[in-house]
Amino acid sequence: MLEYDAGDRSCSRHSVTERIPLLTTPGTFGGIRPWFACPGCGKRCAVLYELGGHFRCQECHHLTYGSTCATG
Ligand SMILES: [Zn+2]
Repeated sequence: MLEYDAGDRSCSRHSVTERIPLLTTPGTFGGIRPWFACPGCGKRCAVLYELGGHFRCQECHHLTYGSTCATG
């Protein structure tokens, strides 16, 4: 049996009201492909990340795949 405390998140409620533009590009088979337009850099991104109530692409959040251990 496992017991844990899920906590009460009601104190940290905040609303995210940022407008995220949507871009579309022609798809390979005649459809369209939707993209998010990053509010930070304007690039089109398949995924946006929400941090601190703002949606940004991973580059704006300084997220990188396979990040090396950059110390200093
Ligand atoms: Zn960005």
